[in-house]
Amino acid sequence: MEEKQGLTEPLVIVNEDECKGCGLCIDICPKDVLFEQPHLNRMGYHPAGYTGEGCIGCGHCFYACPEPGAITVLKKGYVEVEEAA
Ligand code: SF4
Ligand code: SF4
Repeated sequence: MEEKQGLTEPLVIVNEDECKGCGLCIDICPKDVLFEQPHLNRMGYHPAGYTGEGCIGCGHCFYACPEPGAITVLKKGYVEVEEAA
């Protein structure tokens, strides 16, 4: 059976439409890899975004975020599990 390749680096994903643009994740990130995006989401907030590299998977942004589901941190080695049909 073929083994799936996990993530080679940690990854942070912002669910833009759940983000309230409070900036807490941006302020707390020790690697400064999150930023306020210029466009507005469907609720009229500037959502946080990821620069695309440098996340160390510490999870500080996840714990600082007041909006459930707005930010997800995937650790290095994460493998997506396919759901059964
Ligand atoms: S997991 Fe840590 S390094 Fe990665 S974006 Fe969040 S606060 Fe920054
Ligand atoms: S802490 Fe959460 S709600 Fe606030 S800007 Fe970051 S992702 Fe958006």
